[in-house]
Amino acid sequence: MRGFFTRFALVFSALALTGQIPATAQDSEPAETRWSFAIHGGAGTISREDMTPEEDAAHRAALQAALDAGSKVLDEGGTAMDAVEAAILLLEDEPRFNAGRGAVYTWEGSHELDASVMDGATRDAGAVAGVTNIRNPILLARKVMTDSPHVMLAGKGAEDFAVEQGIEIVPPSYFDTERRREALERMKARQLSSLDVDLKFGTVGAVALDRNGNMAAGTSTGGMTGKRWGRVGDAPIIGAGTYADNRSCAVSATGWGEYFIRVGVAHEICALLRADRQAARSAAEWDAARAAGPDAVVFVSGVEMPVRFAQDVADDVMDDVKELGGDGGIILVTPEGHALFSFNTAGMYRGRATSDGLNEVAIYGDD
Ligand code: ASP
Repeated sequence: MRGFFTRFALVFSALALTGQIPATAQDSEPAETRWSFAIHGGAGTISREDMTPEEDAAHRAALQAALDAGSKVLDEGGTAMDAVEAAILLLEDEPRFNAGRGAVYTWEGSHELDASVMDGATRDAGAVAGVTNIRNPILLARKVMTDSPHVMLAGKGAEDFAVEQGIEIVPPSYFDTERRREALERMKARQLSSLDVDLKFGTVGAVALDRNGNMAAGTSTGGMTGKRWGRVGDAPIIGAGTYADNRSCAVSATGWGEYFIRVGVAHEICALLRADRQAARSAAEWDAARAAGPDAVVFVSGVEMPVRFAQDVADDVMDDVKELGGDGGIILVTPEGHALFSFNTAGMYRGRATSDGLNEVAIYGDD
C-alpha cells in the first residue's frame, strides 16, 4: 500500500464543533481559478534517428497549435470539454496523426474511425466506433453525449445519426494518405504486424481541467493498420481509452488497444486516485478529530495531492499494461491542476500547459 500519510500534503479546513461553538476553524481555500491541459498524438518507437529535422519540427508545430487552441479556451474561462474538442479537431485534420484525415487503413483498404468524450462534472459520455465518412469523429462523439440517450453508436447507425445532427460528412477517400497506404501494403507483403509498419500509435487525445474545476477527456483514432472483422480498440471505450471524473482525474490513452481494454486503463487510474484521495481524507479527519477531542465533529473539505502521487498511480497502471504485453501511454490532469504523462514506449507525441505558465511539447522519452 502506498504511504499516503507521508506522501499526501493534506490541505484541509477542519471545522471542529463542540455544541454550537467552533473549537477550531481555518478558512477554506480560496476559489480555484487554475486550469491545466494535456494532449497526445500517439506513443511508440519514436526516436530522433528515425525523424528528419523537418518531420520533427512539423510534429512539434502541429502539437503546439493543438495545445494553444485548447489552452486559449481554458485561459478565457471556457469549459474543459470545449478545450478538448478544440485541440482534437486540429489533430484530426492534421494528416500526420492517426485520427480523422491520415487515419490508418483497415485490411480491406478502408478507414474505420473511433472517438469518445467524457465530461467529468456529470460523467456524461459519448462515443462512436467504426464510422467511415465523418470528417471529425470527435464532434459526433460529443453529439452522442449531448443529443442522444446513448453512450456509444457504431457503424451505419452512427453515420445516420450524424446526418440527422448536421455533422459534416465527407467521402471516405478524404481520409486517404499515401504514407498510410504504403504501411498497409508493407504489412501485407511482409506479413508484418501493425506495430512493425507504423512504429507508433498515432491516436490523438486531450484532457482538461477548467477554471470551474471541471474536467473532460477525449480521444480519436483510426485504430491499428490492417485491422479487420470490425475490430474496435480502446479509444471509443469509456473507461479504457477515455475517462473523466471531477472527483479524481481525466485520462486519454494511446497504445495497443486490446491491452488497454483488458486493464480498463483510464478508469483504473481514476478509480485508484479517487480511492487514495478518500483514504487521505479519512486519515486527515482522524488526525483532526484526535486533536479536537472526543466530542468534536470534524469536517475535512479538501485533500491536495502532490504531483508525484498521481504520477506513481499512472505509472503503476502502465506497468500493469506492460506486464500483460501491451504498450502505449496516457495523459492525465488532476483537480490540483497537474498535467502528466506516463508511457512505456520510447516516445510519445505530447504537450501540456497550465495557468501557472507551463507550456511545452515533446516527442522523445528524454525530451
Ligand atoms: N489505441 C488505438 C487502438 O488500439 C491505437 C492508437 O493508440 O493509435 O485502436
